[in-house]
Amino acid sequence: MSRSEKAEKIRRVMEADGESVANSTLAKTARTDEILESFEPYEELREEARRIKEDAIETLPKRIDELTEAVEENGGHVYLAQDAEDANRYIEGVMADRGAEHLAKSKSMTTEELELNDHLEAAGYEVTETDLGEFIIQVADEKPSHITGPAMHRSTESIAELFNDRFDLEEPLSADPQELTAFARERVGDRIRDADVGLTGANFVVTETGTICLVTNEGNARKTAVTPPAHIAVTGVEKLVPTVSDLQPFVELIAKTGTGQDLTSYLSLLTPPVETDWVDFDAGEYGPSEDRSFHLVLLDNGRMAMREDDELRETLYCIRCGACSNTCANFQSTGGHAFGGETYSGGIGTGWEAGVHGLDSAAEMNDLCTGCSRCVNKCPVKIDIPWINTIVRDRLNRSNEPDSFDFLVDGLTPDDEPAGLDIQKRLFGNIETMAKLGSLTPRLANATLGFGPVQKLLERVAGVDSRRQLPTLAEETLVEWASRHHNPNLGADREVVLYPDLYTNYFSPERGKAAVRALEALGVAVRIPSVPESGRAPLSQGMIDTADEKASEVYAALAEHIDAGRDIVVIEPSDLAMFRGEYERLLPERAADRIADASYELFEYLYGLLENGAELDALSTSDGEVLTYHSHCQQRTLGLDAYTTAVLERAGYELSTTDVECCGMAGSFGYKSEYYELSMDVASRLDKQLPDGGPVVASGTSCGEQIAALTADAVPHPITLLDPR
Ligand code: SF4
Ligand code: SF4
Repeated sequence: MSRSEKAEKIRRVMEADGESVANSTLAKTARTDEILESFEPYEELREEARRIKEDAIETLPKRIDELTEAVEENGGHVYLAQDAEDANRYIEGVMADRGAEHLAKSKSMTTEELELNDHLEAAGYEVTETDLGEFIIQVADEKPSHITGPAMHRSTESIAELFNDRFDLEEPLSADPQELTAFARERVGDRIRDADVGLTGANFVVTETGTICLVTNEGNARKTAVTPPAHIAVTGVEKLVPTVSDLQPFVELIAKTGTGQDLTSYLSLLTPPVETDWVDFDAGEYGPSEDRSFHLVLLDNGRMAMREDDELRETLYCIRCGACSNTCANFQSTGGHAFGGETYSGGIGTGWEAGVHGLDSAAEMNDLCTGCSRCVNKCPVKIDIPWINTIVRDRLNRSNEPDSFDFLVDGLTPDDEPAGLDIQKRLFGNIETMAKLGSLTPRLANATLGFGPVQKLLERVAGVDSRRQLPTLAEETLVEWASRHHNPNLGADREVVLYPDLYTNYFSPERGKAAVRALEALGVAVRIPSVPESGRAPLSQGMIDTADEKASEVYAALAEHIDAGRDIVVIEPSDLAMFRGEYERLLPERAADRIADASYELFEYLYGLLENGAELDALSTSDGEVLTYHSHCQQRTLGLDAYTTAVLERAGYELSTTDVECCGMAGSFGYKSEYYELSMDVASRLDKQLPDGGPVVASGTSCGEQIAALTADAVPHPITLLDPR
């Protein structure tokens, strides 16, 4: 799909679905945040859930055998389906063997993956969805827009319109949610009674006992499982847990992270076949219990290969709570009809799509993950979702055919980057080389890049949106300035390295100088050696080998300072997030630990100095000036934003803070022509929290650029407020 086609699709989906998706995801995230704030065992349960999942996937073949034995002992059947076709064939066979005509289904993303409804309907069977959301999209003939809220993209008005159009009603339905729910409930209730076979998914399956665990907010799933005489449960092989007690952390967590509830409305533990009669509603009598049958279809469809894949394996720990979608700013604007593949959507959808449908199915949605990391702390099983997306991006880069414009930037990226790496990614991933070249003649470079026809050319060739203003190169880099800066604290006990990140060094050395002066005023000796870009830029384009090289170079440049006991102070939060996060993946363990342990975010460091007796009066302070502060997504994920607010408040500012997940700019993302409008839509939620006039400061470079685009005012880094000069 071309850039303009992508932009057009996103625009269309945002227009159609955006408002409803945003309302629903924002409400869920707010509830989740509120409930997690007072849920003390959260981290402990996440650890426990993660451990159970890791162990269950590690021992999966043994667990499958154990489960098969337990289910067969209970009188049921287990079928391990290799792929969708195999699973569909088996389910159709069960229908045929029972002489069944009608299947009632509860919500199951796994059957969406199988496209089971299409298969059974093509074979002449009737299928009724009994979950409210699934019922709506079945009537509308649409695809789910969210893994737990399939009809999230529809407003109640549009649902009322749909029902009034599709059903022959005496009185039209209003948009009242209760009226719509009552209508659907009555209808699907009748259909469950008519059904010959009931089909459910399973949130978890206990291998020791053969117990199916269904976690729902509607009563339809348990009715679907037990009302018809036959029950088929379809689930991925990754859903197995060894014992009933292993369910505890999951049922606690899934409700809290997924929907912000203490527990879901229904929690059903079924160990079929149930040794009871069943009700034959047609005949008005009980049917014999011998007619009951149970089939558990365990789906592989790529999962066993994911288990063998060191990078994608983590996806299998997913319990499909949907929290990563709810909290994702880009998902909030689009929903799963844009941020989705053949079946799965949202942040973790990329891993699922790559695993079960193949890389191509993940291609279109993958770039919608900006790596902001806001989903990471929300995931109940601690999956590093942005890392999975980076891995998939890297694999996609390697699978692409060379771009026709690639020759223009040939040689700008290391040889081991793939030939098919898109020119846009090459440029943004290698921005340090461009900055270095440009800074040889900054005036000329700035004039060239600010020239309209050049911007248009960049847009056409490399998808750099011409509606964005490119940052301008400074006349002198921070490192150059530092080489002639007199260090007043030479020989001081405390000596630090101020990391000259790409943006501060080449584009905004003023904030670096302000940081130097603030640190020096507090008695610290500051060094600014020449250190390469952290690798964040190539990593966010999926250029893992280049990021790997950068990480090694950064460590090589900083190691002597760490050896000498110098702390590393970092201005740009996304670089600190590299040092404390992604370097674990890129560097040998010892190097990653050393750099992570030695690094501090600038305000975290200032806060520590002040707490340890440094004099605030040495810095510039305020007399109660009202100020809006926007922290950075990765800074918030690391829990570091509180240091900036604490220091600014100590310095006398009256602060209000924004609390959106992301500004929408996210490094290069907002510069890309296909994502410009999405980036601005995400920013519109931030815009509502900004003051009408009045100063705004932001910790992140790209956040500042985005807010400047919204307000037309400069948005400095907060350190400039404390600059003693
Ligand atoms: S890292 Fe950010 S953009 Fe990516 S999936 Fe998570 S929340 Fe969404
Ligand atoms: S990746 Fe984590 S947050 Fe996302 S759906 Fe799966 S379990 Fe939930």
